[in-house]
Amino acid sequence: MTSNSLRDADIAYALHPYTNAVAHEQSGPMVAVRGKGVRVYDDAGKDYIEGMAGLWCTSLGFDEPRLVDAAKRQMEALPFFHMFNHKAHEPGIRLSETLVQMAPVPMSKAFFCNSGSEANDTAVKMIWYYHNAIGKPEKKKIIARLRGYHGVTVAAASLTGLPLNHRSFDLPIDRILHTSCPHHYRYGEAGETEDAFADRMAADLEALIEREGPETIAAFFAEPVMGAGGVIVPPKTYFAKIQPILKKHDILFVADEVICGFGRTGKMFGSETFGLEPDIMTMAKALSSAYLPISAVLINEKVYQGIRGETGKIGSFGHGYTYSAHPVAAAVANETLAIYAERDILGHVGTVGPRMQARLRRLADHPLVGEARGVGLIGAVELVADKATKANFDPSQAVGPRVVNHAQANGVILRAMAGDIVAFSPPLVISEAEVDEMFDRFERALNTVT
Ligand code: PLP
Repeated sequence: MTSNSLRDADIAYALHPYTNAVAHEQSGPMVAVRGKGVRVYDDAGKDYIEGMAGLWCTSLGFDEPRLVDAAKRQMEALPFFHMFNHKAHEPGIRLSETLVQMAPVPMSKAFFCNSGSEANDTAVKMIWYYHNAIGKPEKKKIIARLRGYHGVTVAAASLTGLPLNHRSFDLPIDRILHTSCPHHYRYGEAGETEDAFADRMAADLEALIEREGPETIAAFFAEPVMGAGGVIVPPKTYFAKIQPILKKHDILFVADEVICGFGRTGKMFGSETFGLEPDIMTMAKALSSAYLPISAVLINEKVYQGIRGETGKIGSFGHGYTYSAHPVAAAVANETLAIYAERDILGHVGTVGPRMQARLRRLADHPLVGEARGVGLIGAVELVADKATKANFDPSQAVGPRVVNHAQANGVILRAMAGDIVAFSPPLVISEAEVDEMFDRFERALNTVT
């Protein structure tokens, strides 16, 4: 039987990701039907500026014809093939080449998956495989950070440092540990400079490593800017203090570039903006401007050599997805990367990013805003009950979600994170005029919430 309306059918049949199922029975869905530029339109024809680029991902906006053509051409030529057992196809080979060549630090090989979560799970498995390969089977624990976000599959959700992803799921799995979150505004002590705070964060990490035994710690995962944890921009000197500790204890560094990769922070990778020198990089989202699902894991020569040797010894690298390097997704990713270069997407972010950051910083004077922060085309406002004490609102007041609902009614789609943080991550192709329109709409919404 077909339900009368999409709304009824949605409520009857769809379990939504990251949604309160009880509340959804009342609210129903916002149904998007088409997109143009940085806007999407709902089934009543109302337009919204997509201030989150979907889920931090549609970097080229919602109607890039070259990506549609690239997909169509590849669909017609070869809709599916794979890279298992010495097989390959041109889009997969070319994408490997391009990504290894564009990496900000020397990388050796690219491996493909379908989502950021799968890329991070793959990195975890590679790290374990590598340490078995090099004869260090006891070196298996992985450290990530509180409020970091690395996805939702079992290992990735364990790396994630947010209660919502652990509670009721019996996570994290053992072998995965969390160190402190480098958010100076929230966790800095009275009078502590950002640099002194970064020292303390590095000392926390080293204390955890010493407590657990450095010989048991395999890797450290970090996003250059934490996204879903609340757009947390680290102190300038944070990674410079963390990395020598990792080197000293022979701990692999994984940069999760799933949000930051491909221009979001103003450089091609967040690792460049913040001076990271990872051994492994994971990337997804803007890799294909989200037009098709594809993600990648880049590994350096050291990690590759370990994995290579083990595959020779035991017969094969026993890991891979049916859709690893799906040729249509890979073709779309190749086209996306070509467009970034041809249209100088970094130059564009260099122009509009400062406009967005200026509009964000202007909000810092608003009575509800504790901190306005960001870099490039990613940012957030943290809403507080008391600016002086930084006290949060009571969660029952749902201030962040209410602001986001008002924003949606005013024609801008944003997301509220835990702690009443409202995030901004528009398509990278947004114009200065559209940045202004997005903030004008948001300010109207913010002013109606009391
Ligand atoms: N890593 C980061 C930094 C992310 O922001 C996300 C998703 O938002 C993921 C990993 C997981 O990616 P996916 O949702 O594609 O599994």
